[in-house]
Amino acid sequence: MGNEQDISNNFSETNDHRIIIVGTGFSGVGAAIKLKQQGIHSFIILERAGEIGGTWRDNTYPGAACDVQSHLYSFSFEKNPNWSRTFSPQQEIQDYMLHCVEKYQLRKHIRLNTPINRATFAENTGRWTLQSAHGEHFTAQVLVTACGALSNPALPSIKGIDTFAGKIMHTAQWDHDYPLENKRIGVIGTGASAIQVVPAIAPLIKNLTVFQRTAPWVVPKADKPYRQGTKNMLGRVPFIQKLYRGYIYLLNEVRAPLIIFDTFLSKLLEKEGLRNINHYISDPILKKKVTPEFKVGCKRILLTNDWYSTLSKSNVDLVTDPILEINKSGVVTKEGTEYPFDVIIAATGFDVPTAAAPFEIIGLNGASLNEQWRDGAEAHRGTTVSGFPNLFIMMGPNTGSGSTSMVYYIESQIHYILQGIQLILDKNLKYVDVIQECQDTFNARIERKMKKMVWSSGCKSWYQASNGKITTLWPGFSWQFRLATRRFDQKEYHKVMGQR
Ligand code: NAP
Repeated sequence: MGNEQDISNNFSETNDHRIIIVGTGFSGVGAAIKLKQQGIHSFIILERAGEIGGTWRDNTYPGAACDVQSHLYSFSFEKNPNWSRTFSPQQEIQDYMLHCVEKYQLRKHIRLNTPINRATFAENTGRWTLQSAHGEHFTAQVLVTACGALSNPALPSIKGIDTFAGKIMHTAQWDHDYPLENKRIGVIGTGASAIQVVPAIAPLIKNLTVFQRTAPWVVPKADKPYRQGTKNMLGRVPFIQKLYRGYIYLLNEVRAPLIIFDTFLSKLLEKEGLRNINHYISDPILKKKVTPEFKVGCKRILLTNDWYSTLSKSNVDLVTDPILEINKSGVVTKEGTEYPFDVIIAATGFDVPTAAAPFEIIGLNGASLNEQWRDGAEAHRGTTVSGFPNLFIMMGPNTGSGSTSMVYYIESQIHYILQGIQLILDKNLKYVDVIQECQDTFNARIERKMKKMVWSSGCKSWYQASNGKITTLWPGFSWQFRLATRRFDQKEYHKVMGQR
């Protein structure tokens, strides 16, 4: 494939491609870079937004930052010695993504403002046809979906929310032109986004009310800026940078059993969380309100040093009385208290595709992926689905990280997918389609392992589909996922000859 011509940069001449990637977050950009490094240039990347970047393009709310160490939350093949601090802010990560796109000359492959709403596989030609919301069609032999898991903001389904006369802002759709100063503001939610945005805006606001449905587990964040000397050293000596990355990786893996398994070890983490509450909060009523009532790790553990201190401030009020409805002027709680607001900030998370494809995907014999996944998504090694040939799903079912960097999982998947693509090209196959029994065996193993994970310990979270099945996270260590995806085993696939 090394001599394959770059046919991807002339969209007007042809919408027919060897490979189409949908999405330009870490998954799409990483897959594209690795395709190029493997000498495969005949691909395009379709992106629904007006710029690349996924999560780190969209989540620009004040205080947005990563809760995984940047030296690990970045590509192993594109290390950055200049991260400003242990956990980088959003803009720095988005700048890193833009840097990757420019350095690896991906712009000419990318088509922005192209939201895909349907992909259909034709068995006779062995090709996928994608249809955009604007009515355009694109065809390709291989489809790689890289649409992310947290890309569709979810407003809370609270009665009357449409009637609110003020402004509603979701954290993932922040309006930077709207001044918050001197406004009456209510924040709904106390998850990973809320614990970043509330401390960031609280100093600007006279009265800030936070509505909490479930108290989260919060532990300290070991975050600090890197000295210039450290950055220089990491830049000059790549080996030290590699060692440092390896050290962070090991650190996260060693902590993983405390975070992901349902064992006595989680008590250690619970103690850390309770110590954290006692350290910052003296008011017994507030202490009670913020003390979680579920096993640590069952929902995402939150890392921050300023959540509890912010809740203790005189201008911040934590309301735990459940929300009854939203009316024209604000929020009404079950006890009948009315809270008038100018702005409601919805820090309420995302519609997570636990049981849905990123867009309508139709495979062999007209089968719909959404239909197939109605009771919870399943794939082989988190990536391929029987009956959906030449489809590779990045960040697919059970590929999420509970304890370390998603980028490590993404790179593992890219390695697997590239082997699959290379097989199709080398053997001139029409398509590969994973054998149903192999997919079932793999998922039976996941289901068995899932019972031992803390996410199955009884809380309700976005990790689960509506029937309780956990379809998002990988039940084990990250290195086990790497092992599971190290080799694209031909024996697990039907291989159909006769490429056009
Ligand atoms: P989230 O974790 O789903 O939290 C949503 C919050 O809104 C929860 O507190 C939830 O309460 C509350 N909520 C939802 N609907 C509600 C309703 N109808 N009434 C009252 N409260 C309601 O969403 P998120 O904070 O945006 O985070 C989502 C994920 O994004 C995280 O788990 C994480 O993976 C990722 N993230 C990462 C970072 C980072 O630093 N890397 C930062 C932000 C987000 P319940 O708990 O009761 O459901």
